[in-house]
Amino acid sequence: MDERVFLRYLDGELDPDAAAAVAAALRDDPGRRRRFAELRAIEHAYQSGQETLPEARRAALMERLRREPPTSHFDLVRRADLEALAEVHSTHGPIFSLYLDTRPERREAEPPLTRLAHLLRQTEQQVRLDERARSYRTHWAEESEHLRAWLAEHTPLEGHGLAIISCTAIGLWRAFRLPVPVRDQLVAGDQPYLRPLATLLDEFERYLVVLIDAGNARLFEVCLGTIEELDDVWGYVPPATGHFVEKTGHRHDAYLHRHAKRVAERAEALWHANHCHWLVIGGTEEALGELREHLSKPLRERLAGELHLSPQVEPGQVLERVLEIERDQEQRVEAQRVEEVVTAAHKGGAAVLGLEPTLLAIVEQRVRLLIVAEDDPRPGWVCQSCGFLGANRTEICPICGLTLTEEPDSIDVALARVLAQNGEIEVVRSRDARQLLMLHGGIGAMLRYSYGAPPPPESTH
Ligand SMILES: [Zn+2]
Repeated sequence: MDERVFLRYLDGELDPDAAAAVAAALRDDPGRRRRFAELRAIEHAYQSGQETLPEARRAALMERLRREPPTSHFDLVRRADLEALAEVHSTHGPIFSLYLDTRPERREAEPPLTRLAHLLRQTEQQVRLDERARSYRTHWAEESEHLRAWLAEHTPLEGHGLAIISCTAIGLWRAFRLPVPVRDQLVAGDQPYLRPLATLLDEFERYLVVLIDAGNARLFEVCLGTIEELDDVWGYVPPATGHFVEKTGHRHDAYLHRHAKRVAERAEALWHANHCHWLVIGGTEEALGELREHLSKPLRERLAGELHLSPQVEPGQVLERVLEIERDQEQRVEAQRVEEVVTAAHKGGAAVLGLEPTLLAIVEQRVRLLIVAEDDPRPGWVCQSCGFLGANRTEICPICGLTLTEEPDSIDVALARVLAQNGEIEVVRSRDARQLLMLHGGIGAMLRYSYGAPPPPESTH
């Protein structure tokens, strides 16, 4: 997008057609969208007459805006987005939900376009396309072509996974490039199929990042390979040096103290509002020391790492460093959790290992934490009536006697089921932990209570 066109759009100088084109481009570009919001905010602050932006803050904002917007490799997946998508229905044409594993090795073995063609043929058979009304078939053809064209244009794809929710008939189009792989699948229906995205959102932990120096602080959220600036805090802190060293030094300390306290309070509020899991702090040594002092105990306990970065750095740089911390943290947590389940299961405690016992525990609603190895789909059998889920091929549901349907990936269903039961999930991705889990069947769970204890009242099976 041309910078001048963008600025003219901001000023409302474009004719309706050109403005609509820019608005459409903004929808597909989170970086631009953020920048647009920032520019609007500054404009608003100045238009309202009361120039509340301090000079330093204004200068820093302008400086930040003059730089190119950060180009993220991934798209932000927000819970609010998924909730909005879950409301969408189409009575005109099918909504396509396409998921593709786009890791380089997978792309080379079988190009995404080939896999799309295969998935389309498969789905056409599933929905019995040849028996559908003509208008439905027309929409289907349009939709298939749209996906094909988009994939062809965006090859090679960035990221490890891709999710597209699309329905040309109702003007719906959302594409998410993801930092983790998803299993290839295409679902066509009158509603978007969001389970893989929802699972990722639940599994991936959110990091609150606070960068502070004497006078400024910026707060970010990092989740699923993307970074978003949540807020900044500005405070007046006089320099520590001056003619009256002792006097100004004392003033400096007092102001810095107050600044750090405000930043800690803001961090605490955002921590709760955004349901964050881990905290990363950084900044200049002196300000960072003050911030540490003011963090509440619960936040200090969730401290995952510290960065020596100034609040003025590019968000992309912050993201890179936080992702390093996240990788270490994930490895540690995964190894710990696999070991916990293996040990507890071997001691006969409240834990299970292996596909069949784990699925059974899910049916019994006893799973507190489900752990599965990444990239290990297993077919299974599901009862659409009572919800029974099993690994062994059986036609008849052992609970209610109705016919079972085959599920290509029972792990997928298991993850969604545990989340629906307010359990936790962990997809084990790091090498060592995954290897250990694979030795024990690739799947396991910590249970809410062991076999010896009486079941809770809500468990009726
Ligand atoms: Zn049943």
